[in-house]
Amino acid sequence: MSNKAYQVAIVGGGMVGATTACLLAEKGLSVALIDAGNPAEKWPENTYDLRVSALTMASINVFKSIGMWDDVRKLGQQVVQKMFVWDHFGSGELNIDSADAGEAQMGSVVENRITVLALWQKLQTLEHCDCFTNVQLNDFTVDDDGVDINLSNGSLIRAALLVGADGSNSKIRQLGGIDDYGWGYQQKALVATVRPEKSHQNTAWQRFLPEGPLALLPLRDGLISIVWTSNTATTEANIELPEEDFCNALSEAAEQQLGNFELVGARGAFPLKLQFSPEYSQQRMVLIGDAIHTIHPLAGQGANLGLKDAVTLADVIVQAHQKGRDIASQQVLRRYERQRKADNLLMMGIMDGFKRLFGADEQLIQFARSSGMGLVNSSTLVKNQICKYAMGL
Ligand SMILES: Cc1cc2nc3c(=O)[nH]c(=O)nc-3n(C[C@H](O)[C@H](O)[C@H](O)COP(=O)(O)OP(=O)(O)OC[C@H]3O[C@@H](n4cnc5c(N)ncnc54)[C@H](O)[C@@H]3O)c2cc1C
Repeated sequence: MSNKAYQVAIVGGGMVGATTACLLAEKGLSVALIDAGNPAEKWPENTYDLRVSALTMASINVFKSIGMWDDVRKLGQQVVQKMFVWDHFGSGELNIDSADAGEAQMGSVVENRITVLALWQKLQTLEHCDCFTNVQLNDFTVDDDGVDINLSNGSLIRAALLVGADGSNSKIRQLGGIDDYGWGYQQKALVATVRPEKSHQNTAWQRFLPEGPLALLPLRDGLISIVWTSNTATTEANIELPEEDFCNALSEAAEQQLGNFELVGARGAFPLKLQFSPEYSQQRMVLIGDAIHTIHPLAGQGANLGLKDAVTLADVIVQAHQKGRDIASQQVLRRYERQRKADNLLMMGIMDGFKRLFGADEQLIQFARSSGMGLVNSSTLVKNQICKYAMGL
């Protein structure tokens, strides 16, 4: 690879970094997208990615604007029209139907590998973007006019702005000396794909259990993708259970709402943490997505938040570019930070609060929680508001 100069170098080609690259390159900015891996281009038939995301309508609209949503649809996605939430304690439940709010759908569930592939395919069509795979950022140095980025294959890239979209263990954040704060939940999310006995009815199901939520997300081909949060020891024990015992434990945890399950493929687990950085940028360097916020997956909002970061950052950069200003000035990067910080902190607070509220085992809190759900469920107005919120609109 030859040494080259770009306006923007983005390290991390996951959903958030690749979206940012599309948004900038289609506006004519020269972009280098660098990823340590190589997005899968094909996979055996009847296999499913364990990592899926419930994408809000707001995120889907971003993908439509980029012009790659049709590719996602062709590769496979599942529309979500309803949400059913219930509690292990009492009779509290919440039933939300997008049709009641006059909407065709709340969002879609898509395997991460499908979204990433569609984004990278789109990037191949954009003449202003060069993609570098199987190469890592080693370090970078900043001067008044730009950033020199050293890559693991010995190449050097120069850019006016370095964007860190390199996930929750962001090397760019560490090298830049940006602090991160947070805590581990001492919990792991067990993920698996299962075939339910009954139809998933295009519904996202979520049951709050004593150790954490069990989410059953509708997936293409009538399948279900589960995200089952429990204490670390419980998750590890569930992973080791023989297949039949695991499926029985799962149907019991889901109160037989979807009947029995059949496991499709392997099980996996992710440790859960809350992590955030109070500072989003430094001289000629800015962070987005999980590199600045990692939240509990209980409402499936991490990628959706990251995509909002991508849109806001691309907007402020493009505006500066069109006005002939320095795209990496502190003024531009601070504008992005100001616009995103409140929303990111609010969502992190809500998810952490939900986690604590639904994890509480004091009877009074359990009673209040169950009654609260019942009250919300009886108000169409409130439910329609929740529906709009779930759609990200
Ligand atoms: C169990 C679970 C369920 C979830 N469900 C949902 C959901 O339903 N909806 C939702 O919105 N969110 C969900 N999330 C959160 C979501 O997965 C993340 O927020 C999202 O993937 C973050 O995207 P990202 O692009 O910021 O980072 P990542 O997806 O982590 O991408 C980072 C990229 O950077 C690359 N990289 C890292 N270091 C380097 C380096 N030094 N050099 C070059 N490249 C590098 C990596 O190869 C990777 O491709 C879930 C998370 C979990 C754990």
